[in-house]
Amino acid sequence: MKREAMLAAACGAADVVVIGGGATGAGIAWEAASRGLRAVLLEARDFGAGTSSRSTKLIHGGVRYLAQGRLGLVREALHERALLRHNAPTLVRALRFVVPVASLLERVKFRGGLAAYDLLAGHSDFPRSAWLSRREMAAAVPGLRAEEFAGAVSFHDGQFDDTALLFAVLRAAADLGATCVNYAEVTALLKRADGRVCGVAYLDCESGQTHEVQAPCVINAAGPAVGAVLALDGGDAGASVQLSRGSHVVVGAGFLGGDTAVLMPRVDDGRVMFAIPWLGHTLLGTTDLAQDAFEAEPTPRAAEIDAILATAARYLARAPGRADITAMFCGLRPLAGTGGAPTAQVSREHALTRAASGLVTITGGKWTTFRRMAGATLDFALAASPLAAGPSRTADCPLTSPPMATAGPHLPGLACTEAACRAAVRETMARRTEDMLARRCRALFTDARAALAAAPRVAAIVGEELGRSAEEVTQDLAAFRRLAARYIVDPVVDPGPAADT
Ligand SMILES: Cc1cc2nc3c(=O)[nH]c(=O)nc-3n(C[C@H](O)[C@H](O)[C@H](O)COP(=O)(O)OP(=O)(O)OC[C@H]3O[C@@H](n4cnc5c(N)ncnc54)[C@H](O)[C@@H]3O)c2cc1C
Repeated sequence: MKREAMLAAACGAADVVVIGGGATGAGIAWEAASRGLRAVLLEARDFGAGTSSRSTKLIHGGVRYLAQGRLGLVREALHERALLRHNAPTLVRALRFVVPVASLLERVKFRGGLAAYDLLAGHSDFPRSAWLSRREMAAAVPGLRAEEFAGAVSFHDGQFDDTALLFAVLRAAADLGATCVNYAEVTALLKRADGRVCGVAYLDCESGQTHEVQAPCVINAAGPAVGAVLALDGGDAGASVQLSRGSHVVVGAGFLGGDTAVLMPRVDDGRVMFAIPWLGHTLLGTTDLAQDAFEAEPTPRAAEIDAILATAARYLARAPGRADITAMFCGLRPLAGTGGAPTAQVSREHALTRAASGLVTITGGKWTTFRRMAGATLDFALAASPLAAGPSRTADCPLTSPPMATAGPHLPGLACTEAACRAAVRETMARRTEDMLARRCRALFTDARAALAAAPRVAAIVGEELGRSAEEVTQDLAAFRRLAARYIVDPVVDPGPAADT
């Protein structure tokens, strides 16, 4: 994927314009291209810079949603889990979880619930749930406070690197003819005399120039920012999305001491929390709290960090403290709804709306179900459009990621090589130091201080690849340093709302 070529193609006429390059938008562009439509996807920042890089990294049915009785959602997500495991075997792996239980009652409850989860999964590549004695549980997760529990129920779900899958989807879309441009912010909707949307105007954030794409079908997949796009249409910004913030903290791998994750069912607010091995670290989270207004760069609050650490302390023999946190991050769930209920109880199902102008908006959903959501969105959009499209082909389409270049010098302190950094610029449209360190290699999300240390070299390579001046490289590096400060827990203060980066 070359940005210059993509930008050149993102003008004139298309069939479908997709606003937003997260999981939802990328899935829709892929689905549209698979049906033979000319799709243009426009992303205001870098691909995945919003919620889609900040997930818990699970391709799952959602054990929690099963407890809420949302059987349809769980069944659908388990079906997509199986498809993704089959179509993207290098990107989605089976991860074992244990649910530690303290009493016979808990054992019966979780064993029964997870047996139902197995049943809903049907025939599946994922091993079935099982009872583990205390000894077996301690062997699977040496870091657990084993003496506190009678044993555990184990089950399996899918784990992925969200941005790696996102780039695989974008590549699959591009291979089928889709045009995908990052740093391309939609600033206006083009309308016919009768008020119908017939395209968009967008700002190329690099050149400062505005371009237009005409299309009979325009889809708002801007995630937590759908309201701002609805406002471009003159709509009620708050009508169809309810924001919920979810934070994670990252600590060393030694806190778990193995390759098995823990589902912690005893959280003060009645939810569950995870401790998950991820890229040589342990991911702890998440929270689920109502968020009033959209923020481009949300940051975990002090109270969220304390709550995550307090829950972890109940389960882990060595309780992680603030000083152990190597990175933290926060994402906003764009839930379909209008507020009222606690966000943890709001359905994770997606919702589709069509404005009087014809603008289609999608809210809600999960990473796991992005492909299914994309199909439903296109069906909905095409039902009111003159476009004719072929059948969907995404269910049978493999998703792959080229192996990261491992030869040559490494970026200082990171497992990632300089060659991989150059490849990220040349092949996946990385334009900034942030793009490389946050989403191509995940250093900002696993060890923000290590990312900061490597940043000068990354900025120099990105600058070299893009023919940038020394001043531009310095500005890019300074922007990354400001951003990285928001992923570091020390000093212990609540950073409050972010200024847009
Ligand atoms: C904490 C947390 C944990 C989660 N964990 C999981 C999990 O483990 N498994 C799972 O299945 N799901 C999970 N989810 C849900 C999943 O991450 C989201 O459903 C999904 O990422 C939403 O993707 P999206 O594309 O709708 O939004 P986003 O990823 O936010 O994408 C929207 C994009 O639109 C762009 N945009 C906005 N305005 C414009 C404009 N004017 N022009 C162009 N572009 C624009 C934004 O820059 C952004 O990149 C989690 C969510 C959260 C918050």
